Amino acid sequence: MNHAMKRRDFVAGIGVLASSSLLQCATAQSATTEILIRGGRIVNADGVRAADVRIVGETIAEVGLSLVPGADARIIEAKGRLVMPGGIDPHTHFGGRFVDDITDGSRAALAGGITTLGTFATTQPSEQIKDAIERHSGYARQQAIADIFLHGQTWPPNPAAMPVLAELGQPSFKIFPRLDFEMHIGALLQMLESARAAGVVSLIHCEDGQLVAAATRRLQAAGRTSLQAFAESRPAIAELAATQRAAAFCESTGAPMYVVHLSLARALDACRAARAAGLPLFVETRPLYLFLTEQRLLGPEGPLHVGMPPLRSASDVAALWGGLIDGSIDVLATDHAPSTRAMKLDPALSITNSRAGVSDLQFMLPMYFSEGTGKRGLSLERFVATTSTNAARIFGLYPRKGVLQAGSDADLAIWDPAAVAKVTASGGFSKSDYTVYEGTNVTGWPVMTMRRGQVVFENGCVTGQPGSGRLLAREQWRPQDRR
Ligand SMILES: [Zn+2]
Repeated sequence: MNHAMKRRDFVAGIGVLASSSLLQCATAQSATTEILIRGGRIVNADGVRAADVRIVGETIAEVGLSLVPGADARIIEAKGRLVMPGGIDPHTHFGGRFVDDITDGSRAALAGGITTLGTFATTQPSEQIKDAIERHSGYARQQAIADIFLHGQTWPPNPAAMPVLAELGQPSFKIFPRLDFEMHIGALLQMLESARAAGVVSLIHCEDGQLVAAATRRLQAAGRTSLQAFAESRPAIAELAATQRAAAFCESTGAPMYVVHLSLARALDACRAARAAGLPLFVETRPLYLFLTEQRLLGPEGPLHVGMPPLRSASDVAALWGGLIDGSIDVLATDHAPSTRAMKLDPALSITNSRAGVSDLQFMLPMYFSEGTGKRGLSLERFVATTSTNAARIFGLYPRKGVLQAGSDADLAIWDPAAVAKVTASGGFSKSDYTVYEGTNVTGWPVMTMRRGQVVFENGCVTGQPGSGRLLAREQWRPQDRR
């Protein structure tokens, strides 16, 4: 039985289906001309209302009350369900050193209510950015079931790459604090000026390389190089300093900047100050920092939780929830970076040679929904804003994606808000064989996912086929795309 046809059993466990081990996963039917989703509650970032959704082909034709189905329409009853825009996760890694390719990642994403993925097109030595985008576009066209967009990544900074990214319809790129970062600040600022002119958004990983190197050197001198010391090797001050500097780059150049996986209350405060001053600085966090604290990094299984920046304190966790609720964090993204348990627990790993990242695509939205809307006072509107609408706006996909309204792509997930399930790696589509959230009870789960009008996940099966996902051409960033 190949992976595509393997039905994942956890959905049966949540009682949304009649449990049946005989249930077969069929290939998705070619798109029905019309689908009517009837009787659900439609959630957008600006409000929740009872309405039907009529889908014709790949797009939403109509959202309204008591819509009458056409003669050949497939009718989906959504009474008691929430109908939400498909999630947009702009921060995912596939292939290379990670165990999921874009097909695996698509399956995990679609089963978890996410329909669009942003991933990275990193140049190889002496490769031009245009060729890196073309090469990764090829992987996406071959492997994707979810829709895909690409962030360019190249080093040292190359101002000429910015208009090229905009022309290719992929107006974003990633800055990572490599060890030679300080040598290239001049060129980096020129690149950011070019990014501003071209409407390109810069994603920036905020950990100061020199401060990390200093902390690491002190630990090495004390003979403490095992991953038990991982959090100490990447201290809070390294993230704070780099975040403040990102705000300085943003103020100096006016370029739109997007801080990836922010983990720290003090860094969030630095971003709040920058935003209060009107800077186009956007903030992302990820699930690791919402559910786990630094204690998890200790003990023999600690290395399973390694990510950069490291896990933080309980007060940081509370601050991040506060930021998601009050609007100072724009996006929750996975930074999906899957490895196996054996790879993460490899005894050869150390603070100078670590394997960062976890698998998160399938469980991010259900866990966030359950904890956020169920326990922390996150509104349904903010749930959609932080998992779909804001990413669509920042990355040039709105209103084609990120909203349920006439004319938008019919990307959506139908949720059973009362479904109860346990998170378990064995119920996942990722090739990562563990999850750091194993055994967590969750209330609320997507039971059906549509991507451009095609049902690509239902009854626990991902029915969409590799190659059916589309490489999305995006609009350049404009100042009015601020929140
Ligand atoms: Zn990443």
